[in-house]
Amino acid sequence: MSKELAEILFPEITLTPQDLEKKYPRRNLPEGARVTRFAPSPTGFLHIGGLFAAMISKVWAEKSGGVFYLRIEDTDKKREIENGVKIIIDGLSDFGITFSEGMTGNDTEVGDYGPYLQSKREEIYKTYAKDLVAKGLAYPCFMTEEELEEIRIKQEELKLTPGIYGEFAKCRDLSIDAVKERLNKNLPYVIRLKSGGNIENRIVLDDLIKGEISMPENNLDIVLLKSDGIPTYHFAHAVDDHLMGTTDVIRGDEWISSYPIHYELFKVLGFTMPRYAHISPIMKQDNGGKRKLSKRKDPEAAVSYYHEMGYPKEAVIEYLMTLANSNFEDWRAQNPTADINEFPFELSKMSPSGALFDLVKLTDISKNYISKLNCETLYNMLTSWAKEYDKEFLSLLEKDPQYAKRILNIEREIEKPRKDIAKLSDVKDYISYFYDEIWDGKLDFPENINKEDIINILNTYKDIFNENDDKETWFERIRQMCPPLGFAAMPKEYKKNPGLYKGHVGDVSTVIRVAATGRRNTPDLYEILMILGKEKVTKRLLDAINKL
Ligand code: GLU
Repeated sequence: MSKELAEILFPEITLTPQDLEKKYPRRNLPEGARVTRFAPSPTGFLHIGGLFAAMISKVWAEKSGGVFYLRIEDTDKKREIENGVKIIIDGLSDFGITFSEGMTGNDTEVGDYGPYLQSKREEIYKTYAKDLVAKGLAYPCFMTEEELEEIRIKQEELKLTPGIYGEFAKCRDLSIDAVKERLNKNLPYVIRLKSGGNIENRIVLDDLIKGEISMPENNLDIVLLKSDGIPTYHFAHAVDDHLMGTTDVIRGDEWISSYPIHYELFKVLGFTMPRYAHISPIMKQDNGGKRKLSKRKDPEAAVSYYHEMGYPKEAVIEYLMTLANSNFEDWRAQNPTADINEFPFELSKMSPSGALFDLVKLTDISKNYISKLNCETLYNMLTSWAKEYDKEFLSLLEKDPQYAKRILNIEREIEKPRKDIAKLSDVKDYISYFYDEIWDGKLDFPENINKEDIINILNTYKDIFNENDDKETWFERIRQMCPPLGFAAMPKEYKKNPGLYKGHVGDVSTVIRVAATGRRNTPDLYEILMILGKEKVTKRLLDAINKL
């Protein structure tokens, strides 16, 4: 009778599970090689937690010599946006997360285990659904929205577990004639699992991150195929991860509570279960407590934020690796140039309760990373960032690349480079005084030096600045101008007899620095003045005098 029912429900399906097993043979991979996947919905939004999960899945597979692939779970058409697949692929590849198999664009893919877009796998899901119906393990359910709502309310009132089970599973034992009658009336229906589970029994999930978790068996007749023939997440997960040969399912821990369903599905379908690693969400410190990074409240929850701000992809990935395994930082210190896949990454060392997001740490890692780039690389990174996000800045950088590179090379390509740039979007402001077009011209002179002295210093200096000086000669000139102006040529002298001086050579340099750049703190003043050149320095000093 079940066989007849299966034929009535799925007359168009002629494939069998055996056909599919043959079409998608077990992967031929070396012993111990792991197959992982990233399986987002094409909503166009990529959460930092998604990038985190994708990175972990990639490292976990690749370091074992396995496969990391991209499957798109587009079973919820309401949440989908146009170009959503491409946006996810590009968003990940901006951070170096690429796939060896799976979707490669909105409608394109590579690999032998596709289609990798769930909406193209309808025949596959129906083949398994038909087989389950034929075996008496699934059935059509005609309950209406109203009936389901009534059940929900009743269960709430009686404080019963919500869902379709026991007495609530009204279509579980419909006769074949009753089904035929409803089909003749064209009533919509879903296909439900005929659960054989009992909540008195327990099963154990041996999670690769969280350890052993004991849960009751599933007893719900969950939906496998919705009324439009589209599978639920649960059913698609079992079918896809089985056929695609996933060995390790790495996913958000919101799925832990569904594990009993997945356990039963793999059993009734006759599939071997993969291993599971459930990742806790990335947390954020807020008002003394911890909460999940929120798409709504936190701009840094979106992966696009890091791209827009111009955090180098390597820095973001390095940071996420420290979030994943806290010993990564020490390893990196000892292996500064090694490939990430050489790091002995362990899922078991991940925080079972959720890593805490720390922008300060990311900033440090990023500053460190950028400080080690040579100026050519930084220039190229900066221009490609500006091409996308700041056209005005781009035209300045491209107007005179040599000039821009000299600026970027200040205190760079040396043993202890300056660690001051955390992200590309900071650079424009950081170097603005090199460009009259964007410099605001505000002068932040120190309060401890009076106006008259400032004018005297600037007047004296404008005549003696020589753009051909080497660093020593340049500084010697500044020292020499100090005593006649009433400043000590050496800080030491000043400290010995502060009463005798208005200040020391450091104060004089600061006055020059502020007149030339507007700021009290800058990188090396000698280099700055040399890059600005005689003409611009003279003009800046005169302008400053006029403004005082
Ligand atoms: N599409 C699911 C999600 O976005 C995938 C979960 C999984 O990796 O299995 O949550």
